[in-house]
Amino acid sequence: KDSSTLNLAFVEFFRDKHGHLPVPSSPVRPRGDPSLLFVNAGMNQFKPIFLGTADPRSNMASYRRVVNSQKCVRAGGKHNDLDDVGRDGYHHTFFEMLGNWSFGDYFKEEACQMAWSLLTEHYGIPADRLYVSYFGGDAAAGLPADEDTRNIWLEIGVPTHRLLPFGLKDNFWEMGDTGPCGPCTEIHYDHVGGREAAALVNADSPEVVEIWNLVFMQYNREVDHSLRLLPQVSVDTGMGLERLVSVLQGKTSNYDTDLFTPLLHAIHQRSGVEPYRGRMGAVDVGQVDLAYRVVADHVRTLSVCIADGVYPGMSGAELVLRRILRRAVRFCVEVLRAPQGTLASLVPTVADLLVKHHPIIRAHLLGSGVHTWLIISFLPAASVAWSLHRDLGFPLDLVDLILEERGVHVDRQELDRLIAENQKLQAGDRAQVTLDVLSLTELQRLGVPHTDDSLKYDYRLAEGRY
Ligand code: ATP
Ligand code: MG
Ligand code: MG
Ligand code: MG
Repeated sequence: KDSSTLNLAFVEFFRDKHGHLPVPSSPVRPRGDPSLLFVNAGMNQFKPIFLGTADPRSNMASYRRVVNSQKCVRAGGKHNDLDDVGRDGYHHTFFEMLGNWSFGDYFKEEACQMAWSLLTEHYGIPADRLYVSYFGGDAAAGLPADEDTRNIWLEIGVPTHRLLPFGLKDNFWEMGDTGPCGPCTEIHYDHVGGREAAALVNADSPEVVEIWNLVFMQYNREVDHSLRLLPQVSVDTGMGLERLVSVLQGKTSNYDTDLFTPLLHAIHQRSGVEPYRGRMGAVDVGQVDLAYRVVADHVRTLSVCIADGVYPGMSGAELVLRRILRRAVRFCVEVLRAPQGTLASLVPTVADLLVKHHPIIRAHLLGSGVHTWLIISFLPAASVAWSLHRDLGFPLDLVDLILEERGVHVDRQELDRLIAENQKLQAGDRAQVTLDVLSLTELQRLGVPHTDDSLKYDYRLAEGRY
């Protein structure tokens, strides 16, 4: 089963069988929400609906049932999985979250039934591989156990020994330090089967992995940490596409699915080391496999973030992205022994893989400077970096950083001379300089691998058409 058809099947199930309106993914850069570094869940763009503050003239105000596949980044703030990436096979910094919502429409019972029917009937996942967790309450916080949900699952046919209560940490979902929240119920999948695995649920085991979270939004977490009741109750669900695909493709790690294997292959072609072997679990991932996973993960994140307008930089989300870039470069060079230009050369592969799910993403990725951006991470000469800064607007401090990363000494005098010289140039001459910089022979001389497509793009860029 191809990952793109699975993604589509999710949207079609909720659209055609249950009357949900498909809504496009928002960019990963949060719009007007300072409480977030990156979009970390499908529900972010609907926050005004939960809070009851949606503009009544907006489309959003009329939403009752919607379905969506959202680009998410969890690399900072409350949801930060950066340290897990590569160490396990199911936490990424960038992933896609499939979700369905009810805004004051259906509630717990229908939400659980739809989820169960999609997984077990539509996707054909054996019910005895699934475990369900629900909110067991928290006395100190004055929150009762969610017995309603427990009863709904019993009714659906989940046996008591696979129905498990958990506390605030696992089964009370919160968007951030503030924002909509509520008790949740989650579906977990046992990759092994034929045994009793309840003890492995929510235990960081690679064998039993959480796949779908159904949140019953009821509160808003206020700045003073208190919980305020929302004007209406809503359903907010999220299922990681990569995890779902690993289940349906019979793989124990997301990196063994068709969402990652072409990318790992492309990395191997550029590397000076053995291919990715792929092993289950967190315990015995070797340094090389770890590097493959980290580079594959990080280049997806870098590509999507840059395409959505978050550039590596010096503070906030941009600083996080800068760290991700540094880490990707380090693993590329030091562990995978890949040449200059490797990250940049992977962007077309990333675009091809993501385009299956987001048709506009390819044009977007290749047309937004991502590729060039990653190319400059590998350019050796200060003059080249300088002219890219001047013509394409990449911040100088970042260019400095990239050069430092590459162990290239920046000749300050030479740089000053270039700046002075540049000030005398006319706009037309500047474009010419950039064209020279990015010419085919120059790229080849620098050992920057490229595809025809990316080159064409670079030329157009160089000619000032972007
Ligand atoms: P986990 O406990 O595995 O860290 P979570 O409880 O933090 O997951 P939720 O906030 O409930 O995750 O997000 C909903 C769904 O999104 C999860 O059930 C999972 O399928 C997926 N998901 C969450 N974090 C990641 C990630 N870092 N990479 C890939 N998928 C993820
Ligand atoms: Mg998590
Ligand atoms: Mg969890
Ligand atoms: Mg969860």
